[in-house]
Amino acid sequence: MDMNVSQLLREAIGATRDYDIDETIDLTGEGTQNRIKGACHMVRTQRSILVRCSLNTEIELTCSRCVGSFKQPAKVKFNEEFFPTLDIDSGAALPPPEEASSFTIDELHILDITEAVRQYFLLATPMKPLCKKDCAGLCPTCGQNLNQGKCACPADNTDPRWAKLADLK
Ligand SMILES: [Zn+2]
Ligand SMILES: [Zn+2]
Repeated sequence: MDMNVSQLLREAIGATRDYDIDETIDLTGEGTQNRIKGACHMVRTQRSILVRCSLNTEIELTCSRCVGSFKQPAKVKFNEEFFPTLDIDSGAALPPPEEASSFTIDELHILDITEAVRQYFLLATPMKPLCKKDCAGLCPTCGQNLNQGKCACPADNTDPRWAKLADLK
């Protein structure tokens, strides 16, 4: 998801560019392909290019209860500054940005938003995804997916309030 910003870097502060995004990338690094769609707006600032993106995709998730995989729409919006590594006019190396984690524009003036897109979608991914709110999960005894029907295991009455009564028998 890279864009050549050499022209924009030569323009005056406040100059802008708009990009439509429709690209497929491996968002999670696990070999799955995610189609990312949306728009990015770029502004030339004195020291950088400010990138504002609004993107959406579908993320493949694994349900934390039944371990079934399912797709869920995800949206992100972000503002990030990308710092040039070379002076656009002289070609001289510029000092690295103050924050080590800042995004940079490479020496060929390519601004690549892929890493930012990955990080923001990762943050938008639920920690304990559920395929549906009332997912019944797996039977702890036989492992059957209880969304697909009951298993043959005896009903488990380990409610502690009943355990004492069971002892009396
Ligand atoms: Zn589930
Ligand atoms: Zn079972």
